[in-house]
Amino acid sequence: MAVARFRTRSVTGTVTKAAVGGCETGGFMRVRVDQDRCQGHNRCYGLAPKLFDVDDLGYATALNDGAVPADLEERARLAVVNCPEHAIEIWEDE
Ligand code: SF4
Repeated sequence: MAVARFRTRSVTGTVTKAAVGGCETGGFMRVRVDQDRCQGHNRCYGLAPKLFDVDDLGYATALNDGAVPADLEERARLAVVNCPEHAIEIWEDE
């Protein structure tokens, strides 16, 4: 299983299609939130409420053991590039 970390951002912080579209493998995808980095911005939950939950203080965790259904892979990538703390990691099978 390969580890892929998405930290690509445009200069303005706006998500670009290139940043979101990288690493299309069609394989199994999983997300994980680094609890040491998460600062509770809630952006991941706002972008992908089927993939992330947040506690009362806004700190995020991945739902369903981090498993990402194929139809939510783009949402997972959006969450990664929009996390200001780079706290979300994606694993994908090659
Ligand atoms: S966007 Fe990043 S820092 Fe904010 S709650 Fe989600 S994982 Fe945590």
